[in-house]
Amino acid sequence: MKIAKYLWIIFMLFIPLKIHSEEVIPVIVSIYPLEDITKNIGRERVTVKTLIPAGSSPHAFEPSPAEIKEFTKAKVFIKIGAGLEFWAERFVRAAKRDIRVVDLSETIPLINGFKEKGHTHEHEGFKEKGHTHEHGGADPHYWLDPVLVKSMVDSITATLIRIDPVWKDFYIENAVAYKRRLDGLHEEIKKRISRLQKREFVALHPAWNYFSKRYGLKPLYIVEATGRELRPGNITEIVKFIKEKNIKVLFSEPQLSPALVEALARESKARILTLDPLGSPQIPGRDNYIDLMFYNLSRLEEALR
Ligand SMILES: [Zn+2]
Repeated sequence: MKIAKYLWIIFMLFIPLKIHSEEVIPVIVSIYPLEDITKNIGRERVTVKTLIPAGSSPHAFEPSPAEIKEFTKAKVFIKIGAGLEFWAERFVRAAKRDIRVVDLSETIPLINGFKEKGHTHEHEGFKEKGHTHEHGGADPHYWLDPVLVKSMVDSITATLIRIDPVWKDFYIENAVAYKRRLDGLHEEIKKRISRLQKREFVALHPAWNYFSKRYGLKPLYIVEATGRELRPGNITEIVKFIKEKNIKVLFSEPQLSPALVEALARESKARILTLDPLGSPQIPGRDNYIDLMFYNLSRLEEALR
């Protein structure tokens, strides 16, 4: 009896050590949608820092010393993968050995045939200014398909549970709730796109292949891959496409120079709308992933009606 009592006291002493893991998990992510998605799962258990500043393109990003420092503070780095964070690897290696890197592309059926030839660090006027190297050829823009985001949610949830197993039920509950909202988003996009007359649209850079595959749209892009290189004859081909398909709207993007879209719009008498693959915490209506996708859906409706 006495021994049982002591054992109980000892047991009680150890419980708090396990349960009171009140330390919040510091996470860094590459692009803003990952911050929003991670916060929906981790809520007050995580702090999330996005490395790529709002308004910048991840394809032409070069981290500053301050941003590199974020790697030393974080416990986990969540990335899109498929070549998008080509700039990150050496910083992860330099920063800290025990940072956990989660490559979300590992569970995604990637679309291939996405060629990125070289990147510039000045990113103006789509001129080739940087060095050239080739990436894997997989298209990294899968976060623009809400159905694939559910796989991303599963990977992020599994990571948080591995780091912080005591809060497992909390993470799972949040993930289930968020995936239900993603289902709602998907159904809404599917329904509204199916009502549209046109299927073809012209966007600035090839971010919309996963989205288009999911909802049966046919995109054509003004610039190849990441906006650095134009094929000879590309403009002529696009102008022909615009005329043939009677396209009245061209899509610009907040993270890239609008010069080419503007030139094309003048030539083809089309008007310009914005599609936004990244969103921003500073823009109401585009400051979380789900609203961002509703914003993009509304712009597509204006164009494809
Ligand atoms: Zn992109």
